[in-house]
Amino acid sequence: MTVYNEHFLINTRGFTDIIDITQKVKSAVYQHNIKNGNVVVALPGSTASITTIEYEPGLLKDLPDVLNEIVPMDKMYHHDDTWHDGNGYAHVRAALLGSSISVPLIDGALLLGTWQQIVLIDFDNKPRSRNVYVQIIT
Ligand code: ZN
Repeated sequence: MTVYNEHFLINTRGFTDIIDITQKVKSAVYQHNIKNGNVVVALPGSTASITTIEYEPGLLKDLPDVLNEIVPMDKMYHHDDTWHDGNGYAHVRAALLGSSISVPLIDGALLLGTWQQIVLIDFDNKPRSRNVYVQIIT
């Protein structure tokens, strides 16, 4: 087994900022010319998520709309009693969507649908710099 570790930095605006990181993940993986393996895309942090979506204008509104319904920003969260940082909603949203994904690498290509992009979603209530880690396991 061989493990390759890559990472890159993404600056976000926070407030459910959805950023397409597919090309950066592909660059991190494809530079190694590996045919088959497993690729993990992970973000250390509890107020942002890594997931996939079709990166088109409608869904870029739909997903935040749904998250606003089920995890509103203006609700009272017990987390804010603890830290008073006002981002309880961000922690709950990040926990629901998760902080990493696994993508198979098959015959030199990441197994993604034509309309499936890898996205970083930053829920925090301020701009952030996020390190995204790409681990390739062969
Ligand atoms: Zn917090």
